[in-house]
Amino acid sequence: MRERVFKIFMDFDGTISQQDVGEAIFRTFAEEEKVNKIIVDLLNDRISSRDCWIKLCDVVAEINKTELDKFIDKFPLDETFISFINYCADEQNDIYVLSDGFDYYINRIFEKNGIEGLTVYSNHLEIVDGKMIPSFPYYNDSSFSSANCKRNHIIHHSSDTDFTVFIGDGNSDKDSVEYCDFIFAKSDLLRYCEMERITFYPFNNFNDVIKKLKELKSKKNLKKRSRAKLKRNQAYMNE
Ligand SMILES: [Mg+2]
Repeated sequence: MRERVFKIFMDFDGTISQQDVGEAIFRTFAEEEKVNKIIVDLLNDRISSRDCWIKLCDVVAEINKTELDKFIDKFPLDETFISFINYCADEQNDIYVLSDGFDYYINRIFEKNGIEGLTVYSNHLEIVDGKMIPSFPYYNDSSFSSANCKRNHIIHHSSDTDFTVFIGDGNSDKDSVEYCDFIFAKSDLLRYCEMERITFYPFNNFNDVIKKLKELKSKKNLKKRSRAKLKRNQAYMNE
């Protein structure tokens, strides 16, 4: 029998990192009032995530790269994340980081923590003459709550023989949870799953995830979530 393998997709900000680094950058380097208004508009679905990032970059008058880098270096990862990477490597579970944040700080934080070779899909950020210039290589206009269309990555990296797992905490994960069999949720994503009656496992850190995955792996009859399977099959057919 084929070993049971999970395809694991996870968010970065507030999930792998302890805090939302992207949001913190704008709250620090732009006028608080302007930033608040943009984020409230996002959380109330008045603007898309892509529009949110463009507006946020716009309200940063000028940014100093050295100061920004120093600021980014203060953010720790979840302390159990590295043991999770090792667990997945041992179990041959493929892992993918799907972030609606920016490569600029994600790459820097991973490098600082000695993490190499992870597959990461995110938005792109450049600093040119003190201006923040965002771009969105994985944008899809059907994905309102994440400028990096997480759903597309899940579809491209899984097949109907895989068990899919999603780990996340917030607004940008709302779309993804529709497509995965096992959801690990905390914070805003947990409340969203409760509201939408999506089955999920609550988690505080990656040790909780490892524990539950071990349990799932040892189950005799592991079933895919039918709503997610249906959604995936529709998406595979449209590919
Ligand atoms: Mg997040």
